[in-house]
Amino acid sequence: MAEHPLGIWVYIEQEKGQVAPVSWELMGEGRRLADKLGTSLSGVVLGHQIDKVINRVFAYGADSVYAIDDPLLEPYRNQTHSHGLVQLCRDHQPEILLMGATTTGRDLSGSVATQLATGLTADCTELDIDVEKRKLLQTRPAFGGNILATILCRDRWPQMATVRPRVFPEPEAQKAPSSTVVRGKLSLQPKDVTVEVIKRINEERKEGYLDGTDIIVAGGRGLGTKENFQLVHNLAQALGGMAGASRPAVESGWISYSHQVGQTGYSVRPKLYIAAGISGAIQHLVGMQNAEIIVAINKDPDAPIFRVATYGIIADAAEFLPIFTEEVKKRMEGKAVTAKA
Ligand SMILES: Cc1cc2nc3c(=O)[nH]c(=O)nc-3n(C[C@H](O)[C@H](O)[C@H](O)COP(=O)(O)OP(=O)(O)OC[C@H]3O[C@@H](n4cnc5c(N)ncnc54)[C@H](O)[C@@H]3O)c2cc1C
Repeated sequence: MAEHPLGIWVYIEQEKGQVAPVSWELMGEGRRLADKLGTSLSGVVLGHQIDKVINRVFAYGADSVYAIDDPLLEPYRNQTHSHGLVQLCRDHQPEILLMGATTTGRDLSGSVATQLATGLTADCTELDIDVEKRKLLQTRPAFGGNILATILCRDRWPQMATVRPRVFPEPEAQKAPSSTVVRGKLSLQPKDVTVEVIKRINEERKEGYLDGTDIIVAGGRGLGTKENFQLVHNLAQALGGMAGASRPAVESGWISYSHQVGQTGYSVRPKLYIAAGISGAIQHLVGMQNAEIIVAINKDPDAPIFRVATYGIIADAAEFLPIFTEEVKKRMEGKAVTAKA
């Protein structure tokens, strides 16, 4: 790479025009970082028949878009996307490259970083800029999650980081005219591609997705038993939300892994997060501390969860939850009656 690469790039993860929301979240954060660094922000789109996606990238604040449109780029395969993205990076030399820490982003970022012989910080929970040194400050839990480490890639480019969905808010799309689109070519032939996608089986989840819900009621070890954990489901249902859990609750078999919040579970950003019997270990906090309102129910007044809580309730969760749920139900019924009247 050249000595002074410029510009922040966000990899826009898409398939058949469906964009992973984390890409827009990263465009919002990328704009903030680019303004701080005094540089440009670009989206990178790889796929086939991607013009509509390219236009949308401008609505999320891009100064320009780098794109490769080729049938070999759909469906996603590591070989084709890493080939295209590495080529674009070599040709245009971005200073920083951000990707979502999704299944695709995790798969792709490692290959791209290896081929470009640069550094990569996975699963960042915070990003910032050291303006003077032009370094991306990449913060993530380290050493089993017991500390938050800020990692720098000192003398390699692009500085690469992945960020999990819902860590940053999704900005509003603005009406913006399309601007510069730099188009690259994929220098691969069909015969060069070693992987063929034969069948795609999409996971079906009856309950919906934890990271896309506005109200989460989460329970932890403090609930004591699977029977008590049912109280979490009851409140979640009364509020029209979903149940979440700390890792011990999942490991105890009280609820499935798809409800785990935290470093090794989901990152969530609901409007309301109720944490019952959860201590507030850093590995849990990194997954939920961006919730708009946090209500903590814990019998220990010194529990760390109270440090991030908007409202704290010092109580036995097993006693408090049923009373609270009944009250919520009454008020919800009242609301329904008022609405009908
Ligand atoms: C690499 C790594 C990754 C991890 N990833 C995750 C992750 O993704 N998500 C996660 O959650 N954890 C994760 N952990 C585990 C994490 O370190 C904590 O152990 C875990 O979050 C604690 O869960 P907890 O709060 O339910 O339990 P505890 O820490 O045991 O806390 C229980 C809390 O309940 C309170 N309590 C007890 N009885 C009652 C009662 N009757 N009423 C009200 N309150 C009560 C107690 O005062 C206490 O505060 C990870 C750990 C490591 C090392």
